Amino acid sequence: MGNPTGFKLHKRELPKDRSAKDRIKDWNEFHGHTDEALLKDQGARCMDCGIPFCHTGKMVAGMATGCPINNLIPEWNDLVYRGQWKEALDRLHKTNNFPEFTGRVCPAPCEGSCVLGINEPAVTIKNIEVSIIDHGFAEGWVTAQPPIKRTGKKVAIVGSGPAGLAAAAQLNKAGHNVTVFERDDRIGGLLMYGIPNMKLDKTIVQRRVDLLTEEGIEFKTNTEIGKDITAKQLTNDFDAVILATGATVPRDLPAKGRELNGIHFAMEFLLKNTKSLMDSNLEDGNYISAKDKEVIVIGGGDTGTDCVGTSMRHGCKNVTQFEIMPQPPQERADDNPWPQWPKVYMMDYGQEEAAEYFGQDPRRYCMMTKEFVDDGKGNIKELHTVKIEWVKDENGRFSPKEIPGTDKIYKADLVLLAMGFLGPEAMIAKDLNLELDDRSNFKAEYHKYTTGIDGVFAAGDCRRGQSLIVWAINEGREAARECDRYLMGSSLLP
Ligand SMILES: Cc1cc2nc3c(=O)[nH]c(=O)nc-3n(C[C@H](O)[C@H](O)[C@H](O)COP(=O)(O)OP(=O)(O)OC[C@H]3O[C@@H](n4cnc5c(N)ncnc54)[C@H](O)[C@@H]3O)c2cc1C
Ligand code: SF4
Repeated sequence: MGNPTGFKLHKRELPKDRSAKDRIKDWNEFHGHTDEALLKDQGARCMDCGIPFCHTGKMVAGMATGCPINNLIPEWNDLVYRGQWKEALDRLHKTNNFPEFTGRVCPAPCEGSCVLGINEPAVTIKNIEVSIIDHGFAEGWVTAQPPIKRTGKKVAIVGSGPAGLAAAAQLNKAGHNVTVFERDDRIGGLLMYGIPNMKLDKTIVQRRVDLLTEEGIEFKTNTEIGKDITAKQLTNDFDAVILATGATVPRDLPAKGRELNGIHFAMEFLLKNTKSLMDSNLEDGNYISAKDKEVIVIGGGDTGTDCVGTSMRHGCKNVTQFEIMPQPPQERADDNPWPQWPKVYMMDYGQEEAAEYFGQDPRRYCMMTKEFVDDGKGNIKELHTVKIEWVKDENGRFSPKEIPGTDKIYKADLVLLAMGFLGPEAMIAKDLNLELDDRSNFKAEYHKYTTGIDGVFAAGDCRRGQSLIVWAINEGREAARECDRYLMGSSLLP
């Protein structure tokens, strides 16, 4: 710790994001960059705690507390304070293959558990992380590092999201010949076709994919395992297989009128938009447009927020976001103490934009949709809703109960369902006769990743259920270590 009183001298300060009014005119990233002097001050706020909760990476009360990949946060905070950027970059890459992704879109459980956060705003860990890696790329320090020796072992990875990419990077480092199979036309999983450009620019994803290619990883796009090649075939052709297929089955809302035109799953909306944007700057028209429409987004999470932000950029007439849970409190509740993830009211970028444009936060809490109603021609016209309250039953479980007299009708031309995901698709599991867990994910123990089939591993959202990029990287790295141990008898991978 370079400056023992840094946390007293400097207040938490982040670079200014582009204004909501300005940024909804384009698809560029909205985060601002911090100058070096400010970063130095922010790095100096770190107290180099004896027990740095920021990098513990534990689940507490069902939520991540501290960094799931155990980033060496106090070390690089200090190195940034001292201006030793290259050393900070080396420390960062020791635990994280893709800090340019997490530094942009991770919700930063590290900051939720930062010790300074007990009585002051937390250290700006996420911003320091992205600044280190962006600085590294700008200086030309991030280059391909192909392995010196090859082992001759062949590993197939199914799915090119953060779990598959992290596993590929690590196994390639260990000298194995890695082939990544992806059914989409571009590599990156939800990094490419889920999270929109304004949060994570696609040139940044492609830049990392190019580096991995240069390091010797083979990528096969437009190849669906279970359809173009059977999973059984893969297990015959390769020495080991890692499944990293994500949790891609969306949760539906089986209310009356669900079949009407204009009701879509969020991922159809987001994927088509990014693809059309990349293929033709939206000129091919191969996307679902929200322009001049009354949009209702059902689901209050990240996916829902991305639907709000995308609708704003299309020029929607209005956007409303339904959340089934109550509005969180402004401050941590008594049953949500530090170092747990703080469940407090926050405005994400999409809500900020809608609030700036339409005058209020688009979220409506405790909302339940009872029926979708048509315009007489098969198109969605309105949603019939009711407010609910969460009532505890005799077993201590909360369930929703309608509040009489709160029925309301919302006009809608476009409805986007963003209510989460129910695990991986069934095809590969059927093909390999894989066992599923009770949440319909591929069954494999955390830290081991072995499925019931010899030489077949599972990692990321397809194993743990819908989660975060940082957990996908954690699982991809650990699955690579276990796979390396399986192939070689022991492993030096972390
Ligand atoms: C819209 C949205 C926004 C999100 N925003 C954030 C965020 O801001 N921050 C955050 O931390 N997390 C966010 N998440 C969650 C995060 O993106 C996921 O947890 C993470 O991407 C999971 O990584 P993964 O590698 O396990 O799977 P995925 O990223 O889902 O990748 C799986 C890949 O496997 C491919 N695949 C599937 N089946 C086959 C097959 N049979 N053959 C070949 N390929 C196949 C898929 O096409 C896909 O490319 C978001 C999720 C969504 C949906
Ligand atoms: S918990 Fe916060 S103050 Fe302590 S070492 Fe980590 S970043 Fe620094």
